[in-house]
Amino acid sequence: MNRREFLGTLASSSVALSLPSLFSTPATAGTLQAIRELPPSEVKQVAWTVDDGTSPESVKRYIRLVSENDLRLTFFIYSAMGSWLKNKKELLPLVESGQIQLANHTAHHPALAGLSPKNIQRELMGAHNFIEKHFDIDARPYYRPPYGSINRKVIDAAAEIGYTKPMLWSGSLGDASNIRASRIAQLARSSFYDGSIVLAHANNLTSATVFPTILDIIRSKSLQTVTLLDAFN
Ligand SMILES: [Zn+2]
Repeated sequence: MNRREFLGTLASSSVALSLPSLFSTPATAGTLQAIRELPPSEVKQVAWTVDDGTSPESVKRYIRLVSENDLRLTFFIYSAMGSWLKNKKELLPLVESGQIQLANHTAHHPALAGLSPKNIQRELMGAHNFIEKHFDIDARPYYRPPYGSINRKVIDAAAEIGYTKPMLWSGSLGDASNIRASRIAQLARSSFYDGSIVLAHANNLTSATVFPTILDIIRSKSLQTVTLLDAFN
């Protein structure tokens, strides 16, 4: 069984999960840390990262924003949400070109720190297999723990299955649920800066009304948008 097949069976099989971890990384186990900013680079860059996708229409607006403005962006996929398949046709070409990166935000969006290592891996593998099946992408090593719920147990359990980059953020637009557009714009001004990882959500349409303001902020600060793969590889 190759690695891809093994990972494919992992989420659905409790037997596979009880096997000794074939892919643990002893060299890094226990030393990985959550990541909050981009590594230093010669150009000013920002990672605009968009989580969840509870609103299919919001996901669509982000996809069009990226396409029409030649941006680069990372979606953290909460795979139980229907948005990803509803928008697959428009999303896939941008994923294939690398303009949009798909990363792992679990299958059901639990607070991972409260789960057993086996269930942490099951949640990550649920989204992993979804992304691989529908977009032919291996989302590793980037994941974001829902609610930023992370501890040593989460980091080690994720690393055992190849998720070695736990991504938090340096600034947030506060838009997981509905807030005023003016507040999102205010948070965007402080969140978008050279080296920042900005947390946004595709959960409502308020954020989309702030897109022109955010584009202005990016331009006025001479920032380049990058995916996590662009920045870390
Ligand atoms: Zn989330």
